[in-house]
Amino acid sequence: MKKVIIIGAGLAGSQAAYYLQQACQVVIYTKRKRENCNSMLAQGGIAAAIDPGDTWQSHYDDTLKAGVQHNDPTATKVLVQDGITDMQALIQNGMQFDRDAAGHFEYGLEGAHARPRILHCHGDQTGKYVTLFMHQQLQQVTWREDCMVTALLKTASGCVGIQYLDPQGHLQTDTADAVVLAAGGLGRIYPLTTNDITVTGDGMALARRAGVALADMEFVQFHPTLLTIKGKCYGLISEAVRGAGGYLIDENRHRLMAAYPQQDLSPRDVVARVLTQAYQAGHQVFLSIEKIPNFETRFPQITANLDAHQVPFRENQLIPVRPGAHFMMGGVKTDTNGATSMPHLYAVGETACTGVHGANRLASNSLLECLVYGKRVAAAILAAPTTPPTPVPTPPETTTFKLPERTQLQEKAWALLGIQRSGAGLTDFLAWLQHYQYWQLPADYTAEAVEQANLCLAAEAIAQAALKRPKSLGAHARKDA
Ligand SMILES: Cc1cc2nc3c(=O)[nH]c(=O)nc-3n(C[C@H](O)[C@H](O)[C@H](O)COP(=O)(O)OP(=O)(O)OC[C@H]3O[C@@H](n4cnc5c(N)ncnc54)[C@H](O)[C@@H]3O)c2cc1C
Repeated sequence: MKKVIIIGAGLAGSQAAYYLQQACQVVIYTKRKRENCNSMLAQGGIAAAIDPGDTWQSHYDDTLKAGVQHNDPTATKVLVQDGITDMQALIQNGMQFDRDAAGHFEYGLEGAHARPRILHCHGDQTGKYVTLFMHQQLQQVTWREDCMVTALLKTASGCVGIQYLDPQGHLQTDTADAVVLAAGGLGRIYPLTTNDITVTGDGMALARRAGVALADMEFVQFHPTLLTIKGKCYGLISEAVRGAGGYLIDENRHRLMAAYPQQDLSPRDVVARVLTQAYQAGHQVFLSIEKIPNFETRFPQITANLDAHQVPFRENQLIPVRPGAHFMMGGVKTDTNGATSMPHLYAVGETACTGVHGANRLASNSLLECLVYGKRVAAAILAAPTTPPTPVPTPPETTTFKLPERTQLQEKAWALLGIQRSGAGLTDFLAWLQHYQYWQLPADYTAEAVEQANLCLAAEAIAQAALKRPKSLGAHARKDA
């Protein structure tokens, strides 16, 4: 029986595990508990053309338009076509999405979709319910929680295993026939972000240290509407709120998106830049919810978050917002089966770059990517020939190293790798990073130090890719272009 190590238990890792568990020995590693991941936080839902009046072609066109045609056409076609059958399979397995009184799905609308096609669960709690549903299906896997993977083990034949810190902080190794990187994105490089604390670019950093190719690292999506109080972010206000009739205004009630053809449902990069300009001009930005009937029942998770932070939205119908880091379009380069540039190493979900998101992700396409490509990675591993056992190689060398403070890195990244970039700023960022050593693993080897080194490595990859693209495209905006 093949053994497969999966790094991460978000929707991507869980879906791959689900389709592997009967035929393989599956071991899932998670940095903290299995619920600590971005998948649990997803609000809006999952986009798929499953309504009889919808077509995959329309979903495909919307995905390419939002991605500014930078998308890989083949991978995107796979996403929207397989997405229909994979969502139907999930529903047949028992996953419940919200329906109206007549039993029809209640499709949500989000930015840059031509029609409502977002399936959601318990209003704005889709990620939590779908991830927990998938975890319940994983009855034949071995869980290794509180185990941070710190390196990939490789031989001449490819990836043969991992090195990790066990819950007691001791270094261990584990080997397998295949390793799946499903370690999520890198939002925590930035100080304002919607991302879970575990999301520190580990997947990209593990790959880089092992010499595995990345792609599209310049494309970081900044979501326009994070709940913001006194300059600090307290989670996401889903685009579905604008889909339901919310609109953006400044303190003078001037509508900020009125001049744009798709107004408040313009692509995220467009809205994020308009809001940033308003901020830079000294304005405050609010999301008005006065036109949304039954806001509290439609968005129970957002309502609870607003109450937790004493936002007086019931009195003034306003939510204070500003943009922050949300999603990584780039990542570990894969083909349409999740194969990376290293044999026996696969990548899936936000860690991977299949090319489906192009220069800017279409809303609610990432959970769909986790489902579609999670299943495809499993199929590719099942179809691959079994490899002969290899001796455990020596883990990568450690070194004394010097790291910046995390807040220092985040401030620099926000200023120089953020919503608007310049060649001079990107060069400054890379020159600043040169004062530190983060390529090799730290000799003291604490989880915090490895995480900090990973953030530096992922940030360096963003800066290098952004510098190579002198013109603005999608989420990569150059103010000097
Ligand atoms: C607030 C919010 C709302 C969103 N809303 C939507 C939405 O409505 N629709 C949509 O399509 N997308 C949405 N997204 C994006 C979507 O949730 C993510 O892109 C998707 O869930 C990523 O899934 P994943 O499995 O790739 O990674 P994650 O769910 O982030 O899981 C990563 C896993 O990797 C593990 N891990 C990381 N590093 C290590 C390590 N070194 N060792 C061991 N384990 C490790 C973590 O423990 C975790 O288990 C949203 C994102 C956020 C943050």
